[in-house]
Amino acid sequence: MRDHEKTAVIKIPLNVSLESEEILDGQSRICNWLYNQLLDRANALRDEYRNTQNPEVVKVLYTERGLRNLIPPLKKEKPFLKVVHSSPLKNAALRLSNAIQTYQKSRKGKRKNKDTGWPRFRSWSEGWFSLLYDEPNKGYRLKGSSLILSLGRGIDKKQRYVSTFLEETKPLKGKEIRNLRIVKQLGKFYAVFTVRLSLPAPKKVTKAIALDPNHKNLAYGVATDQQSIEISSPSWLKRTDRRLDELIAKRDRCKRKSQKRITDYNSYWIPSRRWKKFNEKIENLRRKRRDQTKTFLFTIAQALYKQYDLVAIGDYAPDGTGETKAMRRSMNNQSLIGRFKEVLSWVSLKSGKQFHEFDEKGTTRTCHSCGYVVEGGLSPEIRHWDCPGCYSYHIRDENAAKNGLIRVLRDLNIENLVPCSGLASQERWAWRALPSGVVATLRGQCRNTVAASRNSNDDVIVVDQNLSIKFAQL
Ligand SMILES: [Zn+2]
Repeated sequence: MRDHEKTAVIKIPLNVSLESEEILDGQSRICNWLYNQLLDRANALRDEYRNTQNPEVVKVLYTERGLRNLIPPLKKEKPFLKVVHSSPLKNAALRLSNAIQTYQKSRKGKRKNKDTGWPRFRSWSEGWFSLLYDEPNKGYRLKGSSLILSLGRGIDKKQRYVSTFLEETKPLKGKEIRNLRIVKQLGKFYAVFTVRLSLPAPKKVTKAIALDPNHKNLAYGVATDQQSIEISSPSWLKRTDRRLDELIAKRDRCKRKSQKRITDYNSYWIPSRRWKKFNEKIENLRRKRRDQTKTFLFTIAQALYKQYDLVAIGDYAPDGTGETKAMRRSMNNQSLIGRFKEVLSWVSLKSGKQFHEFDEKGTTRTCHSCGYVVEGGLSPEIRHWDCPGCYSYHIRDENAAKNGLIRVLRDLNIENLVPCSGLASQERWAWRALPSGVVATLRGQCRNTVAASRNSNDDVIVVDQNLSIKFAQL
């Protein structure tokens, strides 16, 4: 088995002091200015070419590096460009050349993508111009959690830096960084690293599970080994969200615009101390929520891939109806499912296994056994139903997941994985993720086991590191 290489993108929040923020904003503004300046030139060159067909113009306008070569003379003319490191400056030009080339290609092609017009001027206030350092370790230095960015040498040729701090460094561990992009989104800075990974070659699928995501639990899975698994949602998430709502309400009663500060360049408001205090609490809780959710999702994903070579999940989207609170809860759940998909696809890549997303339209209302479709669908409170077509008894989510599994096996042409006895669930499990791992309890035929699980560890199965499942009989 040969490993293959892949690049991945890792986005990490950055802690930036107010002073550094001003500097980074300045760098971004200058890159934005340069982009517009070069676009201005490009527009003139385009007109010139239309009139003269001068081949020299083509060299500047339509090549990969033509516009970039205009930067050195421009730096002499506009010395303020020198305060920005050469990498982000160069990339402002490359970005424009790239946009022009995309436009050219879309014109030559069959205009598949009608949105690609000639590039337009960019407004800095509408979008922070990202700073791209496209060569490894050029223009930036990573030391522990501190990320030091080099600025331009300026007119006095003095080296200048700005220090920022990565909120976490673990995702970068052992990975080769190819490039770094600094972005600012909704007032928050992020370092976006492109890294190179070597990954195991994909393994053959012999066992598969299809998951039906929904709002009663995180997901309900049915597998080709005739096991079904109900994965509970994280119980603490609701409590955390309630606490967050309280804090946000408290913060928003304080003054956001408390004092006006005026600098040489601009003016801005600073919030009151109470506002800041609550905001800090909110940020901390959000960070905690993010970390805990991540651990939760990884624990589940790893346990699933220990047992199965293929994990498939429905393309769930909540209907968004109902009152505001329910809607928001369903939005939260949607983003949880969204992240779950990302985590699954990531864990599958790392373990040489497979991930697949299937169209789950109609999976709930259709009997997996005879194909009978319930007119108008099943309302959410119906957890069990009898099929009017073939009189089969269905557990709502299990039937949906079975339909999903049938679709997945058909989509991927691996229907031979279904055992002769079909998809009947022989064992029903309930999974709960704890920091120590997944706790699985057997259901259905062993109802007593579930009931006893509260006081005893004997009936608890931990999906351990070695893929084996231990079940201590009562
Ligand atoms: Zn039926």
